[in-house]
Amino acid sequence: MLLQVALPVPLYRVFDYRLPTAIEALSDAVLPAVGCRVEVPFGRQTLIGIVVAHIAKTSSNVPVNKLKSINRCLDATPILDAHMLKLAHWLAGYYHYPLGDVLAVILPSLVRQGKPLDLLITHWRILPHVTDDDFHPNAKKQKQQFDMLKLHGERGASEDVLLLEGMERAFLKTLEDKGLIERYIEPKQAPAPVKLAKLPLDMNAEQQQAVNAIIAAHEAHHYTGFLLNGITGSGKTEVYLQAMQQVLEAGKQVLILVPEIGLTPQTRARFASRFAAHIVLLHSGMNNTHRLQGWQDCRTGHAQIVIGTRSAVLYPFKDLGLIIVDEAHDGSYKQQDTLRYHAADVALYRGLQQHIPVVLGTATPSLEHLKLVADGKLVERRLLTRPGNAKPATMQLIDARLQSTHQQTTDDGARYDTGLTDAMIGAIRQTLEAGDQVLIFLNRRGYAPVLLCQACGWQADCPRCDAHLTVHYSRQNRQNAYLKCHHCDWQAYIPTVCPDCGSPNLDAKGMGTTRLSENLHAIFANPQTSKQIYPIIQIDRDTTRRKDSWERIYQRINQGAPAILVGTQMVAKGHHFPNVTLVCMPNADRGFLSADFRSPEHTAQLMIQVAGRAGRGDKAGRVLIQTLQPDNELLLKLVKDGYLSFAHELLQERKMMGLPPYSHAALIRCEGKTLAATVQALKDAIANLPQGHNLAVLGPIDAPMSKKNSRYHSQLLLLAKDRRQLHQVLNQWWQPILALPSTKYLKLTLDIDPIGW
Ligand code: ADP
Ligand code: ZN
Ligand code: ZN
Repeated sequence: MLLQVALPVPLYRVFDYRLPTAIEALSDAVLPAVGCRVEVPFGRQTLIGIVVAHIAKTSSNVPVNKLKSINRCLDATPILDAHMLKLAHWLAGYYHYPLGDVLAVILPSLVRQGKPLDLLITHWRILPHVTDDDFHPNAKKQKQQFDMLKLHGERGASEDVLLLEGMERAFLKTLEDKGLIERYIEPKQAPAPVKLAKLPLDMNAEQQQAVNAIIAAHEAHHYTGFLLNGITGSGKTEVYLQAMQQVLEAGKQVLILVPEIGLTPQTRARFASRFAAHIVLLHSGMNNTHRLQGWQDCRTGHAQIVIGTRSAVLYPFKDLGLIIVDEAHDGSYKQQDTLRYHAADVALYRGLQQHIPVVLGTATPSLEHLKLVADGKLVERRLLTRPGNAKPATMQLIDARLQSTHQQTTDDGARYDTGLTDAMIGAIRQTLEAGDQVLIFLNRRGYAPVLLCQACGWQADCPRCDAHLTVHYSRQNRQNAYLKCHHCDWQAYIPTVCPDCGSPNLDAKGMGTTRLSENLHAIFANPQTSKQIYPIIQIDRDTTRRKDSWERIYQRINQGAPAILVGTQMVAKGHHFPNVTLVCMPNADRGFLSADFRSPEHTAQLMIQVAGRAGRGDKAGRVLIQTLQPDNELLLKLVKDGYLSFAHELLQERKMMGLPPYSHAALIRCEGKTLAATVQALKDAIANLPQGHNLAVLGPIDAPMSKKNSRYHSQLLLLAKDRRQLHQVLNQWWQPILALPSTKYLKLTLDIDPIGW
């Protein structure tokens, strides 16, 4: 017998190997099992691959005497079970990606490097005799760090979890030296059965029905995909928790996917306060050791609750009982390079494969998911009310054509536009004076998106991309001013005169979060002292770069004093700001005008998600949308009839135009040193399409932002009425075109079910 091995090489094939001659000669020679790692010679290299099949010597295309033998087998038992191998084959087939490369995406890098799977991970716990009295009153920071560990109870927590929560390594050492805490290696034993740490809430009827449906599927060992379509604040998490309880009590694992790493510590706290269970966090910020540890915990069943971002859906599980995809509409579930999978789709596939329920929870379902409901492939459960007193926010338009935006004057007498209408400013003032918080949503960080010469129209552009450079600047700190490309990170000084015409009249055009925050400072400062009265808290990637800065901002907001929060789309995702009663969107509706046909859907989702931050406490919320296009039909539909009617109208449009989800798309992108070369390659690809293929072929056209990081991009879109048709064509066509003379030296990528083009 021979071994068929998948290797991490970009080739659409597996490779045959024999056992070393000395072993082959033994009468009781055993082949390494399917799913084990083997080290093999490959050309002049040595690679580690996965055994994917055993075949007869006569079945190989290579004469047996030409076959090389493996160097060694690394595992006594398979590291990937039949489910995982089937998943890998499915991913390779559906996304038309080489099997060996799929496995390289699935496996943690230490596993790929051939390291042993059992790692020793440091845990920390408080020593039994220690009490709060052991701290000197002045040792505040030590006490604060100690309290963070204390939250984890007597078992403590692993070092990575603690560091993620904001503990500092130096303090762990200090507390250890003082004899207050100790480190230990957690013995690997079967985890204790999950217990409730807190009693569940009394659910309303909608919640109860949703939970019942999920549990019924779980008890019947039956796959069902659920769309839990619940408005923001309707208590989706309580549905997750009570469905999970049954699954965990049956001794099974639960996987919860969340869109962003920023949400994982917070989400962890919500689950940890309900269940005494072994909870594992998986996200892209983990180092290799912790990734392997997490992988092992999932695989051995040690992890009972697994909370992770996109890639967690590719982890192996011993006995998975339920998958939850929170905020299932979120674009971050789609991987945008290498294996371009969509985590929600993979979750549904895994549910089907393992006969378990999968819950997609969201307040703003994607059109794809609504279509699956219409086709009877997902079961929809709606949550239409907020429990208790909390009321959904009311939405209101401000016509910015009727009211010009408010002007301010600088110290040296120059007038400038604040970008906010008086109506919006009045509402903000009223809210603050009532003691509440305001959230202003502006999806653009930095000071201004464009630097413009008023004399000749020159604009500061990135030399490497088709993009303007963003102005980073602040009136308080004028030294720290620069131009930056948000696509390739290219940076430059701000010129004092126009490089084209020499005019000194350079103007920062448009509004970013920094500029808006400064304008708000000016508007709401005390006129006598010019001091600010209300804190203005900016929340974007620039202000949350440091590891614990988001946590700190979050705590500051949740103290509840009146404040203005200015945030980008970072604020849209699942955060709780109980004291925010007013949400303002000075120009969020611009996306309704974009050329991308998905833009209205994504804009509306973002607006509704941001709006959902208002009125989560006891007070009613209000949302003000300032717009220059108050007659826009889509915008009116969204504001008047809500997201679902809006989405169903968009679905009708897509249906009429034959666009996804009423057709199935594949996007081919070509990257090269010149645009001409990439266009030619795609033309050659079209010429090689199989006869009578029946697909709509759009392109080649320039990709959006065709020049990026000094490389050029063209693209080709294939649309098919029928999914099978699309894949049949790709099966015949994709691999051969990678070998065409014109494509050979360019980078060609294939994106199945792309979410933007
Ligand atoms: P969603 O995830 O749907 O936006 P959450 O799950 O965050 O909403 O719930 C919003 C708030 O309502 C939370 O504070 C939660 O504790 C509370 N809540 C949920 N269900 C109930 C219930 N049945 N009774 C009382 N409060 C509830
Ligand atoms: Zn000029
Ligand atoms: Zn750039």
